[in-house]
Amino acid sequence: MIFTDTRDKSVKATFETAVMSGMNQATGGLYIPTEFPKLDKAFLNKESCPSFREIAMNMAKPYVDGEIPEEDLAAIIQDAYPFTPKVLPVDSISYVLELFHGPTCAFKDFGARFMARTMSYFNRKNDTPLHILVATSGDTGSAVGSAFHGVPGLDVTILYPDGKISPLQEKQLSTFTGNVRALKVKGTFDDCQKLVKTAFTDNELRGKLRLSSANSINIARLLPQSFYYTYAAMIAKDRAPMDNKIVDPAIIMVVPSGNFGNLTSGLIAREMGAPITGFVAATNSNRTIPDWIATGDYNARPSVETYANAMDVGAPSNYERIKAMYSLEEVRHLFASYWLDNDGIKAAIKSCNDKTGYIIDPHGAIGWQAWDKIRSGEMADLINGKKNDFTKPGLTPNIPDWAEKVINKEAVGIILETASPAKFGQIVTDSIGREPPIPSRLEEVLRLPDRAIPMDNDYNLFKDWLLSNLK
Ligand SMILES: *Cc1c(COP(=O)(O)O)cnc(C)c1O
Repeated sequence: MIFTDTRDKSVKATFETAVMSGMNQATGGLYIPTEFPKLDKAFLNKESCPSFREIAMNMAKPYVDGEIPEEDLAAIIQDAYPFTPKVLPVDSISYVLELFHGPTCAFKDFGARFMARTMSYFNRKNDTPLHILVATSGDTGSAVGSAFHGVPGLDVTILYPDGKISPLQEKQLSTFTGNVRALKVKGTFDDCQKLVKTAFTDNELRGKLRLSSANSINIARLLPQSFYYTYAAMIAKDRAPMDNKIVDPAIIMVVPSGNFGNLTSGLIAREMGAPITGFVAATNSNRTIPDWIATGDYNARPSVETYANAMDVGAPSNYERIKAMYSLEEVRHLFASYWLDNDGIKAAIKSCNDKTGYIIDPHGAIGWQAWDKIRSGEMADLINGKKNDFTKPGLTPNIPDWAEKVINKEAVGIILETASPAKFGQIVTDSIGREPPIPSRLEEVLRLPDRAIPMDNDYNLFKDWLLSNLK
């Protein structure tokens, strides 16, 4: 497959170039495939639903064709996914897609683990390691650290702001051994990012160490996230006649979003032929995309802190990919969009638990609330002429093409649950009055010794540390 770039369609790159360089330094653009290969109809219409790994294999194959042989791709997928997503019905027309059964209990495991193994594959002929530097404000660092842990030829150094992340997040970052380590920087997240960025532009350092990044714009993180959309849509299609007596339902994917990587992956799955009718883009108070859909003006802005903090993004980088794929009008036909403030997030966690018994995390809760409002009258209100004020929490005023399907009860919603509620135990407990159960792999990490290395916010000290400790 040839990849091109969101800013210059004359760019042609291999999958290897797209993965190993992350973004196109020459244009500042992001890599996207030049076409979306269609999934085989026979595969989509199989009598029994294929396994997650079978779907992964079928979807990944065309993108790596000619660069990763089939048996090596199968080994990558096998090794990346010892866990699967789970689809649970929570009421007659709503499903939760649990994406937190990986090692760090959040959906970023799906992308990061595939990326780590493809990078290792492309690095296999080098006899020196590739050094990944990551600045993190929490969740990305643990997914990346865990995904690269023990992967041959790769070495990871994570920088996080000392004292500015939650105790559980710190445990998840500071307890790695072997080829992954964390530096706790006396500074802010921005300071960590600046240290990493300075390292990437330091030619003397780059002459001595092979450096790379692992950030969320990498196409190797986006593509694998499309696998679970197809998986969930196929399962829901299969189950809906039994669960809800709806034959051939329209499937609406409800996606709690920050950087919009996850939602872009859903668009890729749909382009490839997964049976997905539409999307709900759900955000917290960082409502750059809902505002764009409501007004047509795209205004990136500084992020604000919320309870759904993995979505605190004011300048979502995948806006650029969405714009390269669709016009604003097409987006308005395909998406409903919804945003919720902090009080609304707590109320949503409670409402989900009251109505369904399901304990949802603050990110998934925004999705739940969006879907619950859409199906219980707010979409009908829009059709009947109600004018929503997009500056208030709620739905933006556009009416997607699938709106009638929801009103006619021909649609089901699949809410992407992006993290385990246990990762956000305090806010969940405050909302429902009891603690969410803690998965054993989170409990185990709490017992491990802290190995983070203190680091001053000083580039020369950081560089000296890298040169004397990395090989
Ligand atoms: C990263 C993250 C998100 C946002 O995903 P994007 O791809 O950035 O939109 C949502 N929920 C959780 C728990 C996350 O970690």
